[in-house]
Amino acid sequence: MSKEFHYDIIVVGAGPAGSSAAFIAAKNGIKVALLEKESSVAETVRTSGVTWIQNIKEYGIPDDCFNPIKNYSFCSPNNEVTISGGKPQAAVLDVRKTYRLLAKQAEDAGADIFVKTNVKDSIKNEKGDIIGVSANNPEGDILFFGKVIIDASGFGSVVSKSMGFVTQWKRFGAGAEYEVKAENVDSETWWLMVGEKYSPAGYAWIFPTGKDTVRIGVGVGKPESSVDPTERLKELMESKEGPISKLGKITPIEFHYGLIPNDGLSRKTVYNNLILVGDSAGQANPLVLEGIRYAIKFGRVAGSVASQAIKSKKTDESSLIPYEDNWRKEIESKIKSAGKVQNRWIGLSDEQWDKELDIIKELKSEEFLDFIKADFGLSNMLKLATHHPRLAVRQLFGLVKDIGK
Ligand SMILES: Cc1cc2nc3c(=O)[nH]c(=O)nc-3n(C[C@H](O)[C@H](O)[C@H](O)COP(=O)(O)OP(=O)(O)OC[C@H]3O[C@@H](n4cnc5c(N)ncnc54)[C@H](O)[C@@H]3O)c2cc1C
Repeated sequence: MSKEFHYDIIVVGAGPAGSSAAFIAAKNGIKVALLEKESSVAETVRTSGVTWIQNIKEYGIPDDCFNPIKNYSFCSPNNEVTISGGKPQAAVLDVRKTYRLLAKQAEDAGADIFVKTNVKDSIKNEKGDIIGVSANNPEGDILFFGKVIIDASGFGSVVSKSMGFVTQWKRFGAGAEYEVKAENVDSETWWLMVGEKYSPAGYAWIFPTGKDTVRIGVGVGKPESSVDPTERLKELMESKEGPISKLGKITPIEFHYGLIPNDGLSRKTVYNNLILVGDSAGQANPLVLEGIRYAIKFGRVAGSVASQAIKSKKTDESSLIPYEDNWRKEIESKIKSAGKVQNRWIGLSDEQWDKELDIIKELKSEEFLDFIKADFGLSNMLKLATHHPRLAVRQLFGLVKDIGK
């Protein structure tokens, strides 16, 4: 006989989306189980952890969870630009510490966390609606029943797949990264490296995590390129390409590898008794494939809407739709515009990248940050699309000027 547990909400996956959903639901007095297949939260790191200080402060993430960044450098094969802003705005997270803190917030609010609990399948009622999940842990099989299930299992979307609602993402980013100790680290400056030698459809990066540590990585768009990011990363580190040469002696500490959806906001994210959130919903900014702040933000919205639905004893699709309305209103048009810029970037030759960096040089720090964050409506960036004296600049920003329409 399998063990059985009964909760109001079952959250699958203790990444930033799942922990944030569990936190808000538990805070609302709802009985929540948070299921994680690994032995501990964030045992495996699958992300570079770049995000924005303003956003994470709102979620109670303290200063000792990140390294602040205030200079944003880009290089292409024959060009280079550094945009410097006064106050640090970007953050490179201590991913393990941050993800564990988010899970602790959920636990402190009353959620029960089950680690080493690998969800295998969904449990359905006679109408075919989800009413729970089956999992196994080292002791055997377990059934978790809930009124609402939140699929926060990331790229694999295990619950939604088992319901037959989704198939594997077709377009995605594959990233490989080494966290390394390095001789010469400028801890306030990140590097994004573009062009064929770094990544044929994507970019390479150096993200400082502290005074003498950085993450060096390569992201490759699939199916656009067949390049293996791990191989490319090793080549770049061996040949000390571009700004990697400035780091001096490099000693690897830890290897990270992960996949991130890049299919736009193509998925429906609510069904009867089921919500998809974070990477399982494809909620990522396609320009730099960052999704952590969205995972936290919309994880919280998912937890809140699911709590309300449970309190009103109606958990069908129409009761959960406010969640989908919320996130679509917030990011859909921005992500669409960012997708257009990404499509332009994926097609650029090395020479065109050199010129693109000249365009980026025209940006003030605030404009650059709003642009890279896909927060297109915020600065006077849209004016660049119509009033800038250079045609190339107007063309780039023309891609984003229909935002909100
Ligand atoms: C190489 C790379 C670099 C990235 N860099 C950045 C970046 O710099 N900044 C940024 O904002 N975003 C970045 N991202 C994206 C970011 O990591 C994700 O958008 C974010 O982690 C999504 O959070 P999530 O909670 O939805 O999913 P995840 O963080 O993937 O969490 C899912 C959780 O579910 C668990 N799980 C999976 N299957 C099961 C199962 N069957 N049973 C139980 N548990 C399960 C997993 O173990 C995991 O803990 C990057 C992604 C990659 C691949």
